[in-house]
Amino acid sequence: MTDLQAAPALSEITVRNPADGSVAGSVPIDSPHTVAAKARALRDAQPEWEAMGADGRKTWLLTMQDWILDNADHLADVLQSETGKPRTDAAMEPPLSADLLDYWARHAGRFLADRHPAAHSPLMKVKRLTTVYRPFPVVGLIIPWNFPLLNIALDGVAALAAGAAMLLKPSEVTPLSAVEFARGWTEIGAPPVLALTTGYAETGAAVIANSDCVHFTGSTATGRKVAVACAERLIPCTLELGGKDPAIVLADADLDRAAAGIAWGGMFNSGQVCVSIERVYVEAPVYDEFVAKLTGEVSRLRQGQDDARYRFDVGAMATPAQRDIVGRHVDDAVARGARITTGGRPTGVGTFFEPTVLADVDHSMTCMREETFGPTLPVVKVADEDEAVRLANDSPYGLSATVWTGDLDRGERVARRLEAGAVNINDALSNGFNFALPMAGWKHSGIGSRQGGAEGVLKYCRPQAITAPRLPTQKRELLWFPYSRRKSRIAAGIVRAAAGRGWRRVGRTPGNSR
Ligand code: NAD
Repeated sequence: MTDLQAAPALSEITVRNPADGSVAGSVPIDSPHTVAAKARALRDAQPEWEAMGADGRKTWLLTMQDWILDNADHLADVLQSETGKPRTDAAMEPPLSADLLDYWARHAGRFLADRHPAAHSPLMKVKRLTTVYRPFPVVGLIIPWNFPLLNIALDGVAALAAGAAMLLKPSEVTPLSAVEFARGWTEIGAPPVLALTTGYAETGAAVIANSDCVHFTGSTATGRKVAVACAERLIPCTLELGGKDPAIVLADADLDRAAAGIAWGGMFNSGQVCVSIERVYVEAPVYDEFVAKLTGEVSRLRQGQDDARYRFDVGAMATPAQRDIVGRHVDDAVARGARITTGGRPTGVGTFFEPTVLADVDHSMTCMREETFGPTLPVVKVADEDEAVRLANDSPYGLSATVWTGDLDRGERVARRLEAGAVNINDALSNGFNFALPMAGWKHSGIGSRQGGAEGVLKYCRPQAITAPRLPTQKRELLWFPYSRRKSRIAAGIVRAAAGRGWRRVGRTPGNSR
């Protein structure tokens, strides 16, 4: 059976809260036919959206920003109902989404402005050169379950700001926040350039089949299939995939801050973040002290099914399958000699897995090689900075990394040796909150980037080159037909004069040697 056949033969998806199994809602399973119809409607609406320009679109994006903030509590309720997140994690998604709407609304006009590059040669100064950025008509956005609202803003708002229409496919596990986002877009009366489509892999494949450009966030395995499907259609895609982010703790670090920061960077959202800290390398002189401090931090975390009263730090895993991966990684580590210093088991309720620290870990264990995407922090002792860098780079992933040190120059030197798209010094996840920076996974962690200032919006555009004469034109250009030896020698001689270095080459007219 192929993946595309894997969806159960139902007409709708029942969404459950993974914390207690209660039903949170349901969405239809869109057939490829339905997806194609939605894409056609987007194609009809998109030219007007493009034609209104960045300033016109800004008005709608800022209105949507207001809608998100006005509905923040309700959105946090929906987020919790489909993910089992703690309130603090759920409550951050609406304001961060609003911040992204604000960023793209206010900056897209400048990023998309026509450019007039200087001519590369004096001969070309006779033309006025213009680069125009024209959006792909329909951008397909396929997203996972870890940040059901924020992922739309992280990767989709820039497409709308660029003037594209967006065909949005949320994860089958958490589609309800996307339903809310689409409802908001309709409720504010915005043009119909956002269409929601729900379903499993087959629906995702139909999104690719009907889009002109795709952004995908999710697993590396699915990302590879998406890249192949886009290649078949010769459409571009950007991929934001899995990670196995290392943290390097140097002996001169503030160990209290490092332990608190790594506990948060590893356990935030139950570790279900592409940029979660998933492996920790600590210089030998401070290893025992660091493990004790990290164990203290993690063992104090409060875990449970939260409500709107902000009572817990760590929530449920998104799916039973995800919880089972965590269990497999912990069991493998223990069987091969690792020591659990806190946590280590599913709690037995819903999909919760205890926040876990593993000590005496070696680099061959599954928890160090494969993406866990859960609340575990394996900690490895290393001899020195060089060994830490070598092991940190020994991974197929290269999303991001952290370095903890009392010497910022040293931190930056280490950062520049790491094979990762982002490195945060003495902090975790902070590049993700800085929208002007690229977030671009290296190696198996992705292709292209999300955010990144102008790049974040230009990736949804096709550059168009326009030339126009600056001077009154002749009936014919020198190089036009009919060809002749004399015209050819003049034309080639002029170009040679502009391109050549040194009098000997510049002065030698083609044909003179014969
Ligand atoms: P996934 O890659 O299986 O699915 C992501 C999205 O792709 C979903 O919307 C899904 O319906 C869609 N999809 C699945 N097959 C498709 C296909 N053949 N064509 C088009 N679309 C398709 O990811 P997931 O199930 O949401 O999570 C599984 C794993 O992904 C996790 O265990 C974790 O390792 C990783 N993950 C990474 C991130 C990240 O931000 N990088 C986020 C969540 C999950």
